[in-house]
Amino acid sequence: MSPVWHPFTQHGLNEPIPRVARAEGAALYTSDGARIIDAISSWWVTTHGHCHPRIAAAIAAQAATLDQIIFAGWTHEPAETLARDLVAMMPAGLDHVFFSDSGSTAVEVALKMALGTWGNRGEPRHGVVVLEHSYHGDTIGGMSIGARGVFNQAYQPLLFDVATVPFPEPGHEQASLDALEAHCRAKPAAFIVEPLVLGAGGMKIYSPALLAEMRAICARHDVLFIADEVMTGWGRTGTLLACEQAGVVPDILCLSKGLTGGAVPLAVTMATAPIFEAHRSPDRSRMFFHSSSYTANPIACAAANANLAIWRDEPVHDRIATLGARQQARLDAVAAHPAVRDTRRLGTIAAFEIEQPESGYLSAIAPALMAFARESGVLLRPLGNTVYVMPPYCIDAADLDRVYAVIPAFLDWLANPASRR
Ligand SMILES: *Cc1c(COP(=O)(O)O)cnc(C)c1O
Repeated sequence: MSPVWHPFTQHGLNEPIPRVARAEGAALYTSDGARIIDAISSWWVTTHGHCHPRIAAAIAAQAATLDQIIFAGWTHEPAETLARDLVAMMPAGLDHVFFSDSGSTAVEVALKMALGTWGNRGEPRHGVVVLEHSYHGDTIGGMSIGARGVFNQAYQPLLFDVATVPFPEPGHEQASLDALEAHCRAKPAAFIVEPLVLGAGGMKIYSPALLAEMRAICARHDVLFIADEVMTGWGRTGTLLACEQAGVVPDILCLSKGLTGGAVPLAVTMATAPIFEAHRSPDRSRMFFHSSSYTANPIACAAANANLAIWRDEPVHDRIATLGARQQARLDAVAAHPAVRDTRRLGTIAAFEIEQPESGYLSAIAPALMAFARESGVLLRPLGNTVYVMPPYCIDAADLDRVYAVIPAFLDWLANPASRR
């Protein structure tokens, strides 16, 4: 048995764990030669495709030049360039860039910045308001502000309390906005939200108008607005950021996943001047007390700089629009199946529910579809009964057809297991 302990994996079930030897574009190749289409961008990170030559070259060159350097009190060109270019590329006003290593740490940093800002202003605030069904990472802070469930049951006593706004289900939008307004009157430090799509919570989509309204409520009550665009950023929802579609500029923005095109880990937490200024002072006790060993690792920054260059030089927006249209066409076809409910799409993300009496994350549908897809040469990983397709932008029409061919085949097999194998 391998000594490797895999994430979100029940080793007691002895399910096969394929070994991937290399990847290119939208395809993974296992060590026994199978070609697998990566229909979920390797858990939402790969944007332009695996092993993009420009990102791979940037990593190789940087690794041979400056691999790692302490970032407290020292700096380097890849980080300086990346920070400057991110400020130019992201919505105006997000003028300061704090580096970390993952989406979870970007979120932890955002929370610490928000609380630190109020503390340094001599007006301490500790409350955090969240949206129902949210996901913000698996650290203790991330779990505290995310949906509670079987994933974090064992750690409940360690999780801090937050105020939860009900998800704006169709027909109940005003109740959701009213709840946010009521929570904001209690003067919390911040409201944190996944803009337009709640990813791990089940690809739940809400409108840009609602996001704009939420932002306005926070502004009206002087509550910091944190946008967690760790999944939604880098084109997933059709625009560079989901916030753009609502004309929203957050006080604090979390980015990771596609920041390096999905090649190596890196995250940033971007903040407006008032957040930075609340920490800037001749007084050392007011500095931002956060670091990790690999903060702004030069190799990761070089990969991110190559990603930004791809966004500048290549027709990324056209690829995203093309993928979005192709996703819609296939989703419309799948919608005709009697077991398919609630098809929805935003940008490159397509999702639907499989009708089954049993639902929730531990639903047997998810592992069954995962295994069925794997044997059909497709990497899918449903969230319970929620199936989603979120491929790299380079996927071609034929590969996308292969992904969608798996779905009705699986549903027919579910209805009649004798129909295959
Ligand atoms: C994935 C994700 C995170 C956590 O990112 P990691 O890099 O896995 O730590 C946080 N927020 C959102 C919205 C995510 O989708």
